Amino acid sequence: MALRRVGETEEMKVDPAKGIYVEMEGIMEVRYCEYDDYEAEDFFHFQKVNSHIPDDFCHKDREEQRQNIFFCLVCNCDLKSIIPLRDHVMGAKHIRKALEKKRQVLGLLADPQNKPKVKKQKPPKGRVNVSLTLEARLRDMDDPVLGLNAITEYRNGDGRRDPPWYTCSQEGCKSAWGNSDDMLNHVKNHKHQRNFLKLIYPEDPRIDSLNKNELIEKALTYATDHNCLLAEDRDYDSIQSQKDPALYKKLSTRPQDWSEDKERLGVTNTNCIPIGPRKRAASPPLFDEASWRSTPFLTDTQLVQESIADHQEGVGSVRQQVARFKGSTGDQEYMACQDSISFYRELFEIELQEIPRNGTQADRDLLLADQALLKDLRELEKELAHKGEREVMEVKQINNSLAQLEQEMELYSSEPGQRAYTTYKERLSVLSDELNTFNPEQEGYRAKKVEFKTRMSVLWRSFEARSESDVVVESVHTPPATGSEPRPRKTSAQRRQEDRVLYTGLFKAEVVELVAGEVKARVRGYSDDQMKNITIKIVQEKIMNAEIEAHKELSWDTFRFTDSVRGRIRNWLEIYLKAKYGQTS
Ligand SMILES: [Zn+2]
Ligand SMILES: [Zn+2]
Repeated sequence: MALRRVGETEEMKVDPAKGIYVEMEGIMEVRYCEYDDYEAEDFFHFQKVNSHIPDDFCHKDREEQRQNIFFCLVCNCDLKSIIPLRDHVMGAKHIRKALEKKRQVLGLLADPQNKPKVKKQKPPKGRVNVSLTLEARLRDMDDPVLGLNAITEYRNGDGRRDPPWYTCSQEGCKSAWGNSDDMLNHVKNHKHQRNFLKLIYPEDPRIDSLNKNELIEKALTYATDHNCLLAEDRDYDSIQSQKDPALYKKLSTRPQDWSEDKERLGVTNTNCIPIGPRKRAASPPLFDEASWRSTPFLTDTQLVQESIADHQEGVGSVRQQVARFKGSTGDQEYMACQDSISFYRELFEIELQEIPRNGTQADRDLLLADQALLKDLRELEKELAHKGEREVMEVKQINNSLAQLEQEMELYSSEPGQRAYTTYKERLSVLSDELNTFNPEQEGYRAKKVEFKTRMSVLWRSFEARSESDVVVESVHTPPATGSEPRPRKTSAQRRQEDRVLYTGLFKAEVVELVAGEVKARVRGYSDDQMKNITIKIVQEKIMNAEIEAHKELSWDTFRFTDSVRGRIRNWLEIYLKAKYGQTS
């Protein structure tokens, strides 16, 4: 099998953003698990037909019997969610193993002629005098040198003896930088020329496809036309000059392998770079054969730095996942967060075992980074647990307050204007507000909220009734009401009718919610309007009529949509919908 040459690998680079997770067969597979069995599909084929993997691809089904997972054949591990998958394929350890596999398959190991090349080094320079300025060097040659206005020269204050440094801010030049020799090579280079021509002719799409010689040709034409080809004709004054010693220091102490991309990605280890979330899309191609073939394994500083950055980004994504989490302990979202945390914890723990303790500086960097990230993960786990409990706590608290008020209501009697009345009304208002701002994410708690609201309405109603009643209830808070005008009393039939309206209304509201949900989940092939009609019909004809009928001899304030009523109706619905609409899971 022939090796692709660099440049031809373009479309095959691993890039999850483009849906490319593997470069070839035999690296990973998708496993469609059912009970204890599974069917596997090679990921290389899978990604060809699935340009986008839905977020819930790995979610378990309701009965938890079926689940899709990704299995990494080279690392021998499974990944149960898309986020860990993305991070996994971009992780240094996986890339190393995938590359080993690739080498085997491509026969690189068997073919000494294709032995990994030594990392491309800049050719050793002759004795170049870097204290010469760019201008001084340029004045020595007639060449098409364009875009000098994008160049900035940095001097160390007025210190003339310190060599100048340069940057190129021309669009597309990726903040090329270096000493005068580096910058001379840069401005003569066809890439700089291409970027210059693109700025001059923004509408001309051909510039992108010009080869090196064509570019030099075009640059030459431009320079001739604009009379700046000869050394003496160039506008050297357009080179900007910077004399800030701080900037000079920053530039002159930059690590040799600094690049704009790396800085943006947080890969280089200079102290001016904030470590933070990085944009994966801008990541340098990690699966470029040429560069990887020559990259030594984990001890290489750059690889380690990239690995650390990957880990940090991974933990960053977990952090976001936990921040977005709104469910409660044990639900699907919770488990997904927990999975991500476990994934990284395992990854770091395995890596920590592999790092030699008396290794290089890079090893020590990785060790420290992994330890710090493990600590972060522990914090995230705590935060997750805490958030998971939040709704439970809220539900408990509201329930307690309601129970307290309900109990006191038994003893309450007062009239508007009296202290007990005012206090009680205040407490009811506070709890009502609290209940209104309680917006649980969990389905079970949404039902709870409806229950709470029912109880709240009952409380308000009793409160109003008792506040205008002339019934005297012994209470430490309230002396018997005296001297007030007797209010018109409602007949018991009127009260009963009011109760009926209130309680059946509340009951129905919850039945509608329940039925609508079940219909949506179980009935297929109907429009939204049709489903609405089905819901209304079921609620009225199949449920409410029967429930009301069964209750009409009893006191209406006991007509409540309790958990057991919910369960009973839900069970009936399941059977009914299955029989009638034939689709159920
Ligand atoms: Zn792997
Ligand atoms: Zn440039």
